[in-house]
Formats: sequence, C-alpha cells, structure tokens
Amino acid sequence: MTSSGEEVYLSLQKKFKGDLLRRGEAGYEDARAIWNGMVSRHPALIARCADVSDVQTAIRAAAEAGILTAIRCGGHSLAGFGTCEGGLVIDMSHMRQVIVDPDARRARFAGGCLLGSVECETQKAGLVFPSGVVSHTGASGLILGGGTGWLTRRFGLSCDNVEGFTLVTADSSIVRANARENSNLFWALRGGGGNFGVVTEFEVKLHPLTAVVLAEGLTPESEIRPLLELWRSFMPDAPHDLKWNIDLRLASHAEKVPTELRGKPVAGNSLIWTGDPEAGRKYLDHALSLCSPASIRSSVLPFLKLQTMADSDFPHGRRYYTKSGYFKNLDDTTIDRLVAAVSTIPSSETQIEFAYLGGAAGQVAANETAFGDRGAPFIMNLLANWAEPSADAGNVAWVRGLFNRLRPAMTPGVYTNFMSGDEQDRVPEAYHERWDRMLAVKSHYDPKNFFRLNQNVRARHDAAKNPATD
Ligand SMILES: Cc1cc2nc3c(=O)[nH]c(=O)nc-3n(C[C@H](O)[C@H](O)[C@H](O)COP(=O)(O)OP(=O)(O)OC[C@H]3O[C@@H](n4cnc5c(N)ncnc54)[C@H](O)[C@@H]3O)c2cc1C
Repeated sequence: MTSSGEEVYLSLQKKFKGDLLRRGEAGYEDARAIWNGMVSRHPALIARCADVSDVQTAIRAAAEAGILTAIRCGGHSLAGFGTCEGGLVIDMSHMRQVIVDPDARRARFAGGCLLGSVECETQKAGLVFPSGVVSHTGASGLILGGGTGWLTRRFGLSCDNVEGFTLVTADSSIVRANARENSNLFWALRGGGGNFGVVTEFEVKLHPLTAVVLAEGLTPESEIRPLLELWRSFMPDAPHDLKWNIDLRLASHAEKVPTELRGKPVAGNSLIWTGDPEAGRKYLDHALSLCSPASIRSSVLPFLKLQTMADSDFPHGRRYYTKSGYFKNLDDTTIDRLVAAVSTIPSSETQIEFAYLGGAAGQVAANETAFGDRGAPFIMNLLANWAEPSADAGNVAWVRGLFNRLRPAMTPGVYTNFMSGDEQDRVPEAYHERWDRMLAVKSHYDPKNFFRLNQNVRARHDAAKNPATD
C-alpha cells in the first residue's frame, strides 16, 4: 500500500461506517474490477460509503493525504474513470435508496443507484425516469453526463428531468443545487460529469408509462445505403413517440436471425413507440420497410423488460473501446464510408451505433444545461467489443481509423459519456461555447481539481481571482 493510501486508511478506520478494502484482503479483487475489461488497476484503498457522512469523511481524508481519488457508481465508465492505480476509490454502491412520491410524480434516489434500482421502484407506481438502455449502468455517471435512452425523444435527456442535486464538494461540504440554489452549479451538473463533487442524491421528475411497442428488423447489406437515406429524411419530422436506433454490425448466428443473414453485414433496426400502439403502426411499418421480412418482430413490451433486454449484450469484463461524434446532417459521403466500413468490422459484437436525438431533448435550449449539441441530432458511437487481449490492437485501430475517416463531416462536439480515456484533448470540444462557464463553475467548486478522474474540466489557475459564480 502506498504511504498516502495507508494514511487515508488509518484516518478512515476510526470513523468510516462502510467497508474499507485494501489490496490482498478478501473481496478486494472483485471490488477493484470495473465493467471495461481493458482497464485493470489496483487502487490502494476502496472505500464503500454507507452514507453521506462517509462520503464527507473520505473526501476530507483523501484531500489531506493528497491521494488520487476516483468516484464510482456503477463502474461503467467506458474510459475507466471509476478506478485508479495506487489511489482511493470512493465507491457509492452501498447507497442505493430510492423513494418515490407517486402523487407528485417525483423520486429521490441515492448516488450509488444503478438504472435498474431506480426503474424497479418507479415502475411500482407505473412511472418512469428517462435513462439509458442497460439496467446495470450506474445512474450517477449516466445522468451527470446527460443520459440518452429509449425515452429521450418523448421525455428529454435524463439530466433534463433532474430538479435537484445534493452533493459533497471538494471541501467536504454538503451543497444543494437546483433552480433556486447554486443555479450555476445546477446548470453544470446537467452534462458536466463528475467534475464538481460526489452526488449523494438526485431529485427527479417521473412520467406515467408501463409499456411500449418494440419493433425490430435486420436490413441486409445491399439495402444499408437506402436505409440510412430513409432514416435521415424521416427522423427530423418523426413524432416524439418514436425512437429509431440503427446499429451497423455483423449479424449474429442466433436462431431468430434468418439463415442467409447470419455472420453477414447488416443494419439492426430497433424502434420504440411510446404512444397508442395503433397510431404507431404506420410509422413502424414504414421504418421497417427495408428489413428482411423474416427478421421483423414487433410486440408490446413491459417497460422493465425493455430496460433489461440489452443487459446481456454488454457483459462486465469484456474488452471495449469507443469513439463518438455528432452529425448535423448525414451526407452521402458519410453514408458511403459507413457502408464500406460494415464488412471490415473486426469482431462479432462490435457495432456502429446511430441514434437520432431531437424530440423533447431537442427542445431544450443549448445554453440551458452544460450538455449541448442538441442541434446536431445524429449521434454516432463506434463501440468495439471483444474478448481476447490479443485482439486489442486490431479493434482499437479499427475504431480510430473509421473515426478519422468520418471526422471531417462531424459537427464539433461529443457526448462525454461515450468518450474513451485517451480523449482528454476533446473535452473543450465537448462543451465548446459553454466551456468558459464550465471553467468558472469548476474553478469555484473545485479549484484544486480534486475531482479529476473524469472527462476533466481543469480549473483555472487564477481561481482565487474569479471566485463567485453562484
Ligand atoms: C453497458 C453500457 C450501456 C450504456 N448505455 C448508455 C445509454 O443508454 N445512454 C447513455 O447516455 N449512456 C450510456 N452508457 C454510458 C454511460 O452513461 C457512462 O459510461 C457512465 O459514465 C456510466 O456511469 P457509471 O456510474 O456506471 O460509471 P462509473 O464508472 O461508476 O462512474 C463514471 C464517472 O462518473 C462520475 N460519477 C459516478 N458516480 C458519481 C457520483 N455519485 N457523484 C459524482 N460523480 C460520479 C465520476 O466522474 C466517475 O468517474 C452506457 C455505458 C455502458 C458501459
């Protein structure tokens, strides 16, 4: 154990109510693992907080020792920010309380919740909080970066549905941020990631919804170009009840996949309709018109089933690498390059993921939250997913090569939750016209950059001269 790790351990030992795990101790190996198997680090100490005062105690001890500190909720940071080598991990996974007020259609939940923890409780009241598509993702990391999912077009981003945050800041004080209190911090927390403190509680709006229509189909390689042309012209005027995601990939060998498509380049279409099923039929049929008829499936799905249906596609411990970007328009050259790329995909689980934002998320003004780029509705995520370390170089090179070929047509900006750990130079791009305001808030709440294992907004050196933002 490093000497500063030992110092933090001795300091916490006296008053910490949760679990403290050091290297070599029972449970440490499981506790140090995060979702992305590409990231294997050995923190000196993992502190699993039992409550808010544990979070304060841990931050205070870490700041005094000057130890590198990672904050972890679900451990799903693609970049691996939920751990560190030789430092402290403040692990929130024991703080998963969810309280729902069905009449007010509001919920409060703790900063260690997984999406599934929130969804199970809100569904008991027939309500939803719009979040991501895999239930084992951490709610904190997802919401603080923005949060997109099946309900984004209907109800907005996750961060658009947060009305208040309670957090412990770098000086270990408890701070509330909402429209009335610390409004600049409230602005920054909606898209600014973990830069400002450890969120211990979210207060959110909920919406009534218990089931959706799910329609899926596979488009064969020869029809991928017309499909992308159809999609780009259809989505700008599509109803907010419709979400249509496209994944370019190699079809699996699963029984449900038509024999002639197995292992071949395809576009997977996944559509959600959140309105009256009959009213959605014509839109779904139109969208699936370029799919192989034998691959088309449609059903009414309970919301909890929707939220867990992709869980096993992204298991813990596999190796992942990602690069992401926005397009204002999907031009013909970009489509040509995408079509050419599908057959070069290096592993069977790797995907080129496309989603169209717009809808309720697109109606929030760009300067209303730190999350921006709502006017560049096409979001692309190149997500390589493989098992063997020997395939690392090939998968990473494929993602980087394709990203570089597509980059000229992208709109500046990137969704920070879809960034890798080697893209720190893109963080100012992620916030572009909002960057100065981000710097001001960071300088005020975390002038020494204690919270730096994130897509990091580095505090100004002259923070003392620019103190007040709220
Ligand atoms: C399988 C999978 C599916 C995904 N699906 C979606 C999706 O549908 N939509 C989407 O928008 N994104 C999605 N993502 C991306 C996801 O939003 C990010 O990976 C996010 O960072 C995960 O949050 P986490 O809490 O699990 O991560 P962690 O690794 O635990 O934390 C990531 C970072 O978040 C910050 N953080 C975590 N907890 C706190 C806290 N309590 N207070 C302050 N800061 C904190 C810290 O900076 C930390 O380094 C997905 C990722 C994966 C791996």
